[in-house]
Amino acid sequence: MQNESVILIVDDVSSNVEVLAAILKDDYQIKVAQSGAKAIELAVQNPVADLILLDVEMPGMDGFEVLKRLKSSRVTQHIPVIFITSYNTTEEEEKGLLQGAVDYITKPIRPVIVKARIKTHITIKKQRDALLYSSSHDQLTGLYNRRHLDEEGGRKFSRTQRTQDKLSVIMLDLDHFKTINDTYGHLCGDNVLVAVASLFNKFKRNEDFVTRYGGEEFVILLDNCGLADAKEKAENLRKNIQRLNPDGIKISASFGVAEFNNKHKSFEELLKDADKALYIAKESGRNLVVDFSNMSSTDAELLD
Ligand code: GH3
Ligand code: MG
Ligand code: MG
Ligand code: MG
Repeated sequence: MQNESVILIVDDVSSNVEVLAAILKDDYQIKVAQSGAKAIELAVQNPVADLILLDVEMPGMDGFEVLKRLKSSRVTQHIPVIFITSYNTTEEEEKGLLQGAVDYITKPIRPVIVKARIKTHITIKKQRDALLYSSSHDQLTGLYNRRHLDEEGGRKFSRTQRTQDKLSVIMLDLDHFKTINDTYGHLCGDNVLVAVASLFNKFKRNEDFVTRYGGEEFVILLDNCGLADAKEKAENLRKNIQRLNPDGIKISASFGVAEFNNKHKSFEELLKDADKALYIAKESGRNLVVDFSNMSSTDAELLD
């Protein structure tokens, strides 16, 4: 049966690749690289490898160097690597494992052993992926969660400080959501949250980062997006939420928008500005978009 897991076989000798591919092709999707440089390139190309079988001795970039590079990139550092080599000295094995390889298999290949070890490491990888998914996503809506926003927001904020590119935040909160729960029941309320999340997914660009921030509160982090575009986007969402009518229920949301500037010392400060603007949107009657830079300085200070 074809398994979705992807294994990247890296070996400069075609016959070695063929032996491994023949053993694994019925259970996994196979990608092949015949040099270290190609391995680095293919590891991140879709479908991203779940496991890498890496030959140590290759002309040019050897397996140790490939492993070092994989470990130094955020995208590839968690892909398990198994060294497959004709070396069988203790020092070589120790070096590979110390650099972060998960296992070490020596040639000649014994198919049953190789298959068993790979199966173990693929199982661990899948468990790790599942854990990572549930720690970064909201269970009800499938959107990112607040924990993940804090991490990603911090990263994007530091990058924006360095590059002086644009970064904006939209914070929104559904209006009178407690009344919706009280009137239609909590399950209906849940369906409304799911419907709103689907709307966000429909409207988002690849670089937008949509988060369920709290109960009926959402944050959208807009990379490379200035204030005018962020406001337009918020206004568009506001109108579409009003038109959504999930299960025939009339809903609306209030929005606060803020753009990065050099007075912000942290991502939390940028978020706080969006939160203050949202507060004013609620105070001003709800179903509104308020931009922080348009708030009076007295309002902003009072909310500190
Ligand atoms: P406002 O316009 O001022 O935001 O009023 P509101 O009623 O939306 O705000 P309030 O903070 O009083 O109530 C939020 C409600 O959201 C209360 C809480 O029970 C509900 N809520 C939070 N998380 C969930 C959830 O996962 N599912 C459902 N159905 N309701 C939730
Ligand atoms: Mg070789
Ligand atoms: Mg609310
Ligand atoms: Mg709220």
